[in-house]
Amino acid sequence: MSRTAAEIIKEFREIAAHPEKAIANHKRETGKGAVGIMPVYCPEEIVHASGYLPIGMWGAQKKTISKARTYLPPFACSIMQSVMELQLEGVYDELSAVIFSVPCDTLKCMSQKWHGKAPAIVFAHPQNRKNARKVADAYCREEYAIVKEKLEDILGVTITNSAIKESIAVYNENRAACRRFSDIVADYPGNICPSDRHAVLKSRWFMEKSKHTALLNELMAAIESEPKKKFTGKKVVVSGIMLEPYEVLDIFEENGLAIVADDLAQETRNFRQDVGNDEDALLALAKAWNDFDGCSLATDAAKPKGRILIDAVRKYDADAVIVCMMKFCDPEEFDYPILLQEFEEAGVRNLQIEIDQESTAFEQIKTRIQTFAEIL
Ligand code: SF4
Repeated sequence: MSRTAAEIIKEFREIAAHPEKAIANHKRETGKGAVGIMPVYCPEEIVHASGYLPIGMWGAQKKTISKARTYLPPFACSIMQSVMELQLEGVYDELSAVIFSVPCDTLKCMSQKWHGKAPAIVFAHPQNRKNARKVADAYCREEYAIVKEKLEDILGVTITNSAIKESIAVYNENRAACRRFSDIVADYPGNICPSDRHAVLKSRWFMEKSKHTALLNELMAAIESEPKKKFTGKKVVVSGIMLEPYEVLDIFEENGLAIVADDLAQETRNFRQDVGNDEDALLALAKAWNDFDGCSLATDAAKPKGRILIDAVRKYDADAVIVCMMKFCDPEEFDYPILLQEFEEAGVRNLQIEIDQESTAFEQIKTRIQTFAEIL
């Protein structure tokens, strides 16, 4: 008998809450461990092609940050404070390696201060991507080749071009499924609440991607087979690095807000576009990075993020954009005044809230969202 959408979502929530179980299951099934992927962008397909499980390292809500203060100033972004604290507590000790890209000062600092048991592999994405495209492609391919070589050394495996190509196909299929899921949620705003949407998309960071795709396909079929519930609230598009914890997502739901599209680094920015099928798999991955648009961490003087968000508002008939600003995230904060101006010029209603992984009280966010929902 087929399962209901609620039953499948329960499984996604369980996976999103327990990455350690995903690692243990992968080890039991394949004999291979896991490689940590530091936010935000990484050619994960290279790890997948090694047979190891790529695991996203997105921190966790922490009541108090204490140990991390020895290594990071209090004004380092909230997510890295929490990742550093978890590292010092030994949470990441069982990873076989950790991969860092270093597009911001905080990540540069983190990669230098990393002293967990898992060895760190650090690489840099090119930032002058649009003016000297061929050079940027060649540079990025070389960085990815170094990541591959270091992984091979650390894990004691060989990662072939054809294995990476197969992994790219697995990832493209997963990206397409995630995009379709996001569209289905926009079509069924009364059926899927914001926190369920988030759990489904977050769990892709802890699952082998073909398994995530299979479970997601089962969920989408279940949603579409169930009656569409009436939705009388307002629709919003959200942007930022990530939108957590569940308490904040519940505030959206309590105030009748449905998330019909997102531009979160943890969610859509990681599956918005596919990787091409060049014969040279590393070059295909490099080109995908240089094609990628709409993120404060991927420099583009044309600043297309505002346009992407405004287009999403029009496409999904949304009532507003909510920018979820990670506390002390410089790259996103620098871009915010430009976004704000573009929203105002386009007549897009908008709100900014602050995401803080050290916070356990959400009264301020509650008041802001409640007031905003009333205005809408
Ligand atoms: S949240 Fe912002 S400042 Fe922190 S690591 Fe990510 S991009 Fe860098």
